[in-house]
Amino acid sequence: MSEPITLACPHCHRRNRLAAERLDQAPRCGACKQTLFTGNPVDLDNRSFNAHANADLPLVVDFWASWCGPCRQFAPVFAQTAGSAEPHARLAKVDTEAAPELAARFAIRSIPTLLIIHRGKEITRLNGALPPAEFQRWLSANLPTL
Ligand SMILES: [Zn+2]
Repeated sequence: MSEPITLACPHCHRRNRLAAERLDQAPRCGACKQTLFTGNPVDLDNRSFNAHANADLPLVVDFWASWCGPCRQFAPVFAQTAGSAEPHARLAKVDTEAAPELAARFAIRSIPTLLIIHRGKEITRLNGALPPAEFQRWLSANLPTL
């Protein structure tokens, strides 16, 4: 048995604890009973962000805005990658217009900006959109292993 890991539910944002080997067994949230992995990025705001950022499950955040052309171009790449990155990472989107507190907290100066956060700490960041293969390579090179 490996150490249990913590992750937040993409629906109710409650913290869950489960054995690492259960991650790929389609686990469900202990609170709301919905699936802990949906294959899609989760939209986070100032209220829901910390539960995911402070988890053992690495969080990959796309800081974006609706008026940003490169953000819109990158959105399908990011969404598509959620399915393959799960259950070893959580992909999330933060709308910098809706959550300016988060953009300020992480000193986001250009969008899109991608951050990898693990146990509350920023691991690395990248400014600008990437083609799918390069995004995948960046993730593989930087995602902490559980
Ligand atoms: Zn839940």
